[in-house]
Amino acid sequence: MREERTIQKEIFLSGIGIHSGKRIDMLLKPATSGGIVFRRTDLDNLEFKVNPHIARANYSTVLIKDGYQIRTVEHLLATLYIFGIDNLIIEMNGEEVPIMDGSAAPFVQAILKAGIKLLPSKKKAIRLTKPFIINENGNYIEFYPENEFKITYTIEFDHPFIQTQSLTFPINIKNFVTEIAPARTFGFLKDVKKLRAKGLALGGSLENALVLDDNSLINGSLRYPDEFVRHKILDLIGDLALLGHPLIGHFKAFRAGHSLHLKVVNFLINSQEFWKYEDNEIIYNFLKTLNNKNL
Ligand SMILES: [Zn+2]
Repeated sequence: MREERTIQKEIFLSGIGIHSGKRIDMLLKPATSGGIVFRRTDLDNLEFKVNPHIARANYSTVLIKDGYQIRTVEHLLATLYIFGIDNLIIEMNGEEVPIMDGSAAPFVQAILKAGIKLLPSKKKAIRLTKPFIINENGNYIEFYPENEFKITYTIEFDHPFIQTQSLTFPINIKNFVTEIAPARTFGFLKDVKKLRAKGLALGGSLENALVLDDNSLINGSLRYPDEFVRHKILDLIGDLALLGHPLIGHFKAFRAGHSLHLKVVNFLINSQEFWKYEDNEIIYNFLKTLNNKNL
């Protein structure tokens, strides 16, 4: 177990939604209980309490309630997961979390600046106890027991600039801040027309995504040679964060995406024989040490 947390001070962020193309103002407010709750101020404060049952995949992770939605929650949820922020109100005047620069780095900076507040309540971890694999058309995610939260991700793109990239990281604050959070989302020029016809990627631009033509990257330079696979790790953390507990175990993803990520999340909530709640103080102390060392 570890102590629950919130933020010390309010955080204001503003930016464009990558899919909606609309400018959104977002206010993160400390909360002492109640989990992570998105509140649509443009819809009479309609609340979306973050949990796997209201999550869907549609080129991003979307929370749906009463026919309304909060789009592209994954980079923000990944950041909250890493800092162990369990309770928070997120007020928004529109339907999508701002994409910022396409990465989670702006959210990390905002939270470090606001500070983290420990709460008296405790949070149990979820420890994987048995292996399993979920396939989807030759793509898969497998998971198995291990003594820390770890992700291995492999991507294969028939594109000379990406090709095959594979990485394994223990998922902790230090690795997240330096190796994963700055990795930006990416897309292909050839898909833009198709996506926009579906009302997607309307806010995508060279400022908030790595954009590739048939042969190369058309904007700027990479932050890491394998930035693409690092971003996929960020997306998976954000989707696993829907489970609402710290995780202990290894997830191995091969050519996956939000839809497969959410299948794993749903499998886990429906299959309690594959994990158990960890409530001993060893985990609590481990996370506490990690936290003190890195913040
Ligand atoms: Zn992403």
